[in-house]
Amino acid sequence: MNVMLVDIDGVFNNFVRPKIDLFLGGEFSVGKAHTGHEIAWQPEILDRLLSFHDRGLAEWRWLTTWEDEADILLQGLFNRPERSFEVAGRQDDHSAYHWWWKELVVKDNYADYDGKVVWIDDELNYSNRDDYSSDTFLQVKPYPCLTSDDLDNIERFLTS
Ligand SMILES: [Mg+2]
Repeated sequence: MNVMLVDIDGVFNNFVRPKIDLFLGGEFSVGKAHTGHEIAWQPEILDRLLSFHDRGLAEWRWLTTWEDEADILLQGLFNRPERSFEVAGRQDDHSAYHWWWKELVVKDNYADYDGKVVWIDDELNYSNRDDYSSDTFLQVKPYPCLTSDDLDNIERFLTS
């Protein structure tokens, strides 16, 4: 089974409002999460990302500091059907052992995974991140957040 490791902030939540101006076209929704954080997202981008899971191309797993609250965010704020996606890793289990906890989750569980892995995280843009890219591992580095081009790349990778 292929998997997608999905972050929220900087991926489909364009959480820094001024960044919205960087987008040319596209429809944005803006709201407040139950935590009080302001969220801004493009419904068509989120829908297409969800479709990869729904079409069976890759199982959606959370790799985000939102952890178990990610499902709540997705169901409530984004008004999507109820879902319960697995949390791929938790910060408290890893932060004491590594400078970036998500990388440890990936290194331990997905670097030699039996299936294709798509890891989507804006923090992969930082120059000091390890590169796990291979024929079966795609790192997606959204900036300022996920775009149609990123989604095209993911779909090509999962269907090739
Ligand atoms: Mg992020």
